Amino acid sequence: MSRVLLNAENQITNGYRKNVHQGVDVVKKWYEQDTIICHTEGEVVSVQTGIPNEPGSTGNRSYGNYVKVKHEDGYYTLYAHLKTVYVKKGEKVTRGQHLGYMGDTGNAYGVHLHFEVRNKEDRRIDPTPYLDADLPSDTKDKIYYESYDNYKKKWLPRVTVGSSEYAGNIGNSMGGIYLDKYRIRVHDKNKGYWLPWVSNRTDYAGNLGNEIDGVQIEGLAYRVHLKRGSWLSWVYKVDDTNNGYAGIYGRPIDAIQIKYL
Ligand SMILES: [Zn+2]
Repeated sequence: MSRVLLNAENQITNGYRKNVHQGVDVVKKWYEQDTIICHTEGEVVSVQTGIPNEPGSTGNRSYGNYVKVKHEDGYYTLYAHLKTVYVKKGEKVTRGQHLGYMGDTGNAYGVHLHFEVRNKEDRRIDPTPYLDADLPSDTKDKIYYESYDNYKKKWLPRVTVGSSEYAGNIGNSMGGIYLDKYRIRVHDKNKGYWLPWVSNRTDYAGNLGNEIDGVQIEGLAYRVHLKRGSWLSWVYKVDDTNNGYAGIYGRPIDAIQIKYL
């Protein structure tokens, strides 16, 4: 599995070898081409375009068309040999955002993605453990959450639990909530029932595209903002009473804020 391809299934065609091949080459299963997506939120710090297929080329040209993203805590990810690049230098990008389309530009003998992870010193490290996992982080203990904007059809930037920020776009309904480490479930307004609890690092709560009109989180305090409404009271527990969840059935939410109890 890989979270740098739109279709998460991937095949590694060339692994990482220190000082020899300091990245990992991936293709979509069965060598199909795919859209390249951003591993982790960050800022595009370097983009190269206009390079043709140039087998045997060296230096920066060997990457072909590429995108390099700097992440929180100073790590970088790099996506090379792209056929098309969709982002610009200086652009803020989110996890899952489309960065470009797979190609064979630069020193490539076939269409694939060359993916690199670089540490704070901009040195290449083995990216294999991170193909489907978070980058190393100094802020691992920070718990974060993200929300999915049904209108923009994308995940919004990560927010830290306990900060003054909230997740969501006021006015746009929310279709999903991703919460690190804690258990969460949401009430699907369109279906009219509570979806299953989710609790691990890869699942989110919600049906993307459907609206959410109720939230429950175990072990944290939380409040929601109603679309065309206001913030409701903080909720400090989970139970079947009106004080045991955040939301009003039938009223979609557009933002959520989470803090510690
Ligand atoms: Zn490679």
